[in-house]
Amino acid sequence: MRIAKIGRKLSEEHKRKISESERGKNHYNWKGGKSTERNLLMGRREYKRWRTEVFKRDNYTCQECGKRGVELNAHHIKSWAYFPEFRFDVRNGRTLCLACHEKTDTYKQKGKRIKTKKLEIANAKKETDGATTGETASNGTQGT
Ligand SMILES: [Zn+2]
Repeated sequence: MRIAKIGRKLSEEHKRKISESERGKNHYNWKGGKSTERNLLMGRREYKRWRTEVFKRDNYTCQECGKRGVELNAHHIKSWAYFPEFRFDVRNGRTLCLACHEKTDTYKQKGKRIKTKKLEIANAKKETDGATTGETASNGTQGT
């Protein structure tokens, strides 16, 4: 009610300014589309924090060969690509020196490995499905 009363007294210029500030507010709270860059930055920050936590926990020592004072990497035990929910889970991190990190499955051959892994997953799934249906069909005794 109060707004309506004031509204009548506002000049066009004033109204425009208000609508502009409203738009700014909306934009600020808007979480879609253009915030990708910000998300990326936040992801990077989150990653750095995760990495530091992993290093600290492992006492800045390679968990594979026990080296210290070398270039260290934080390795994701469960892959970054397949387990986004574990990306920033310190328990999913392992401190490795660069040399040991290069020997891991996921290091810099993602495309290749992922394809194989996908196949493995698909095959494993098929096998499980086959086993389940096979069992049910042949003897029909389920449970214990
Ligand atoms: Zn190492």
